[in-house]
Amino acid sequence: MDSISELRQDIVSGDWVVIATGRAKRPQDFLKSKRKPFNQPKTACPFEAMEKEPLLFYSHDGKNDSENWWVEAIPNKFPAFGKGVCETYEKKGPYKKKEGVGFHEVVVTRDHDRPLATMTEEEIELVIRVFQERYLALQAQPCIEYISIFQNQGASSGASLSHPHAQIIAIPVVPPDIGRSLRGSVTYFQEHNACVHCAVIEYEVSIKERIIYENEQMVVLSPYATKSAFEMRILPKQHNARFETTVLKDRFALADALRNALGKLYKGLDDPDYNFFLHTAPVFGVEEYRHYHWHIEILPKTSIWAGFEIGTGIEISAVTPEAAAAFLRNIIL
Ligand SMILES: [Zn+2]
Ligand SMILES: [Zn+2]
Repeated sequence: MDSISELRQDIVSGDWVVIATGRAKRPQDFLKSKRKPFNQPKTACPFEAMEKEPLLFYSHDGKNDSENWWVEAIPNKFPAFGKGVCETYEKKGPYKKKEGVGFHEVVVTRDHDRPLATMTEEEIELVIRVFQERYLALQAQPCIEYISIFQNQGASSGASLSHPHAQIIAIPVVPPDIGRSLRGSVTYFQEHNACVHCAVIEYEVSIKERIIYENEQMVVLSPYATKSAFEMRILPKQHNARFETTVLKDRFALADALRNALGKLYKGLDDPDYNFFLHTAPVFGVEEYRHYHWHIEILPKTSIWAGFEIGTGIEISAVTPEAAAAFLRNIIL
């Protein structure tokens, strides 16, 4: 197989998985003894110099000043998706597969030891701006159906480098979790003629019990049914299916919300590992997805999926969302 990866569809669930052989791991590389140490010193960090040809970069003043770069987007050196031929899918016996056509980029902030949680609102806004601009560039590429933006912070979150960075992966299918989320919001829309997320925001803002932080445009809350302890969600108060259409004023409001959410987690739980990811409508063109409402989910690594979770998909959270929200709400930054 020449391509970087291959998407295969589970014949029973219909879920897609990626087999990324291009990342060239041999079975013996999975041995426990082969795992690399996580905390790299700055001297051994691959992100210390700016890439020769970054896809995009900004200095603190929002200019393209390479000397004083603050944030850059670069291609991932070990991509999970790459160049290939756009195709619907290929049949192999009873199975379906597709070439892993897509893009895999990394968004790096300059400071080796300063995680997003400790950045200023202005700095976070620049990171969000890079997310948005790369999103807009990638959605214009052929084959792309969904663009995932996420950050793994800390070894237990799956990050392989300690230098803070986020990733953007553009793929040729709508991922299973997004598919479920879209179907759920369509069903609610058909039954209530309203957006499910707007209904949640309206209720949560009125009762305040699970609200962690809010500003004029954004709300940070603990979901009613949390998947893990201290899980948080950031949602725009105004209905909008698409993150990429966020305007300047809302980007600053999002930066403020993200700074508060991550800052409270950092201070309250002593810098826990976490994953955060964006859920937004699939790439524009196929459908409008007007019923959808983009949001960010932050999942601290407060537990490890064990047999019950893996086998059933039901997660057991040891803290009530109400107690978690009250705890985080009261953390003063
Ligand atoms: Zn570094
Ligand atoms: Zn909505």
